[in-house]
Amino acid sequence: TMEPIGHRIQQFASLQGSKPAVISESGTLDWQDLLTRVNQIANRLRDAGLTRGDTVAALSENSANYVALYLGTLTAGGCMVPLSGMASAEALGLMLADCGARFLFVSAKNRELLSEFRDQTSLPADRIIALDDDGAGIGSSISDWLEGASSTPNPAEVSLDDPFNIIYSSGTTGTPKGILHDYRFRQRQLVRMSRFGLDGDAINLVSTPLYSNTTLVSALPTLFFGGTLVTMAKFDARRFLELSEQYRVTHAMLVPVQYQRILSDPEFDRFDLSSYKLKLCTSAPLRTGVIADAIARWPGSVREIYGLTEGGISTSLDCNTFPDKWDSVGVPTEGAEVRIIDESGREVPRGEIGEIVGRAISMMRGYVNRPEQTEEMLWTSPEGDVFYRSGDMGRMDNDGFIYILDRRKDMIISGGFNIYAADLEKVVLNHPKVADVAVIGVPSEQWGETPLGLVVTTPESTATESEILEWANERLGKTQRLSGIEFREQLPRSTIGKILKRELRTPYWEGQE
Ligand code: ATP
Repeated sequence: TMEPIGHRIQQFASLQGSKPAVISESGTLDWQDLLTRVNQIANRLRDAGLTRGDTVAALSENSANYVALYLGTLTAGGCMVPLSGMASAEALGLMLADCGARFLFVSAKNRELLSEFRDQTSLPADRIIALDDDGAGIGSSISDWLEGASSTPNPAEVSLDDPFNIIYSSGTTGTPKGILHDYRFRQRQLVRMSRFGLDGDAINLVSTPLYSNTTLVSALPTLFFGGTLVTMAKFDARRFLELSEQYRVTHAMLVPVQYQRILSDPEFDRFDLSSYKLKLCTSAPLRTGVIADAIARWPGSVREIYGLTEGGISTSLDCNTFPDKWDSVGVPTEGAEVRIIDESGREVPRGEIGEIVGRAISMMRGYVNRPEQTEEMLWTSPEGDVFYRSGDMGRMDNDGFIYILDRRKDMIISGGFNIYAADLEKVVLNHPKVADVAVIGVPSEQWGETPLGLVVTTPESTATESEILEWANERLGKTQRLSGIEFREQLPRSTIGKILKRELRTPYWEGQE
């Protein structure tokens, strides 16, 4: 199973006709078609000068061509750099320079964004290629660029230490950092994920963007073992349900807001979802009400995963088996270990709160060009084992289940007490008129900082801010009380569903610090 993915997939050419490899809105490729394309891309990249370890960047929504490019780059021995179309032009220019991209592939939808940073890159025009057949304003179209390319399989030799991909962090907590994963990381991870059935029998509906690690964690094993991906360019709950029914989908990796949108679709119960075996969830807290709803109404099991793109830490919760642990993110996955440490780096007793650190069978190679930041992420145990610092505050219960309370950077320190947003959010959410909430720290003369609740109410509810404030404060501890509630139409979220707390906090702190 440690065969590199570019070699491994060649055997699926024989699945021709029997099963699609990638079903996308812009077309479907069966395994033979996909491999023809992958090998053409690999051969063309090498003809155009790509050598082992070179970086190939892509800026595209999910599509069959994107999947082919990913596998083609790997087959050529290159390192894939999937870029986010949500990033600013300035950030994209910086990322391309930071990773030393040798090629850039851009979908038609990102044409304008490209025009905003094109001048910032030193890439020659013939190395910027359109990932669609419409190359206007970008460069050659993919089909023109592939004209005459050989489809003979010739996967490059790679070792476990070779770079596989670089993923830029979403920047919810600062400037984007390039996270480098090697073959060892990816291949170990995909073998582990295949234990959840994400293998050759899977029909995996991919509705999160391919530039996020969350997506790769589930999509790569499906490809590695010869399964089928159904990709969505843009998430839409109704479309998700239609595709699930139409293609008899077995697996999906979703973020919590997607669960909420899918389950609250008024037509949900009309769809036949009996083909589902497993839904995975990661990237933000999955609320207990949503888990209960998913288990009751959506066939197949639910598993929550906690991890970082950096790797190192990983836990998972089998929601069907442990209904009394739904507030947690489960226990460390096989081969992983998690501990909780205090500010001075000492382990805290069970049940106490501290920073979550972990070590797992797969970890990143490091942040690209940032050795100090890579070093800062490490914690060495008294036994001399190296752990990764998560930047998350949490605790471990007596059964070894891990609870996430807050990002360390989002923690509210009020009058000397540490306040964790998750504790307060859980209480506020129990109010029947509250649909969504984010608790942030805002300046306070008396306490330095004080918690404020930003609430989205349920449709048609007539709640007042003071009603919810009083209700919540009756249920919160003395040191946890909210200083106020403000209503919002919606909460800003990243493309993979994380509430952008920094964005929410900024207006309150302007001129303060
Ligand atoms: P950054 O914010 O550093 O720019 P990011 O948000 O893209 O990057 P990821 O690696 O995608 O970084 O996210 C990891 C973080 O997501 C974890 O540290 C944790 O805070 C949060 N997270 C992941 N899974 C869960 C989960 N199941 N429950 C709660 N939080 C989670």
